[in-house]
Amino acid sequence: MRRFPRVFAFLLLASPPLAADPLVVKCGKLLDPATRSVRTNVTVAIDGRGIVAAAPKDAKVLDLSAFTCLPGLIDAHTHLLLQGDATSAEYDEQVLKESTPYRALRAAAAGKTALEHGFTTLRDMGTEGAGFTDVDLKRAFALGILPGPRVVTSGPAMGTTGSYPLLGFSWERKMPDGVLKCDGADDCRKAVRYQVQFGVDWIKLYADRSYYRTPDGGWASIANYTPEEIGAIVDEAHRLRKKVASHSMTPTGHKASLAAGVDSIEHGDVLDEETVKAMVAKKVPYCPTITVLDFVRGPRSKTNPVWDQLWKASEESFRRAHKAGVPIAFGTDAGGFDWDKRNQAEEFSFMVAHGMTPWEAIRSATTVAADLLGPSPDGKLGCLDPGCAADLVAVAGDPLASVKVLEDVKAVVAAGKVVKTPR
Ligand SMILES: [Zn+2]
Repeated sequence: MRRFPRVFAFLLLASPPLAADPLVVKCGKLLDPATRSVRTNVTVAIDGRGIVAAAPKDAKVLDLSAFTCLPGLIDAHTHLLLQGDATSAEYDEQVLKESTPYRALRAAAAGKTALEHGFTTLRDMGTEGAGFTDVDLKRAFALGILPGPRVVTSGPAMGTTGSYPLLGFSWERKMPDGVLKCDGADDCRKAVRYQVQFGVDWIKLYADRSYYRTPDGGWASIANYTPEEIGAIVDEAHRLRKKVASHSMTPTGHKASLAAGVDSIEHGDVLDEETVKAMVAKKVPYCPTITVLDFVRGPRSKTNPVWDQLWKASEESFRRAHKAGVPIAFGTDAGGFDWDKRNQAEEFSFMVAHGMTPWEAIRSATTVAADLLGPSPDGKLGCLDPGCAADLVAVAGDPLASVKVLEDVKAVVAAGKVVKTPR
């Protein structure tokens, strides 16, 4: 029987980023989100893969002594395969008229944009009808075939029959699906196994839809899954050592998601007291995705006023969750807005406007998001200590005085490779 050499088998399993040249980065200031401390004149040594204690021999020098360094940023909710869908027509257009190879090319460009904006890790939350193209992108970026961030994948994401676009077409037409549908507990378990077979890192499910106001002024929605179905998804995912992210907008979705044991709430536009209490007790974080709501609320409220009302609700939810101590992981839903029109770092300013301190917002995109994702094969994320992955960004000015400077990242090192230097 032929056998793979051991080292080759390891590479297949872990596929860590390719080793880069040894590097020393000289930072004028360095923000350490874990300790909320600012250090001056710091040298970060990189051995070609991760951060090490001492400068390796023959290391090149990247002089950022005029800048402030911080760990590479993490966006824990993106869609690389989507290029803006303020209206359902824009969504349908992409899924119907663009081939998967064309969408992959646009996604590769989106990955490069994200990286140049300082986002060295993305948790991609669904390919919107493009199957497992995110797994292919992750591989191409990790091997250095194309410049792009580290991608944490969730493949096609999960919904149920009739719950997710494409919708509204003639029953005589066989339309493509924006998600992988499953119905019934056994079918949903099989759908989880199918996704794990093709290499997803996370399972993403859509817990609710059709958000509406209740007569008493509250919010509700339709739960997409029965308790048996969503329970089967989470149980099977956890059995296969995968975490579950749940798109959940109102208490209807949160109740179902938290009872099933999901690992993160996505969007959480309406978080009532009961939900917040449950999230604190279970230590379940949420990704608020404020930037996308700001992007879609205008166009969508023209046909459904709920979208404008959600803006106010989402700010109240953010403040409630923040005050209660719910972990808030930075997530923007980039792709829901056009990658090349808005910088996902705008989310920092929204977070501060909704009551966070700059430190809290920066920790959200580093320490907190890193806790949610867990370590990468090349080291811990969201930090710049020995043993951490070699992801670093630099900005001019003081992000603790204004997080706005994070929208203008001057230098980027990703997986030990210099991808952007100050002009
Ligand atoms: Zn999303």
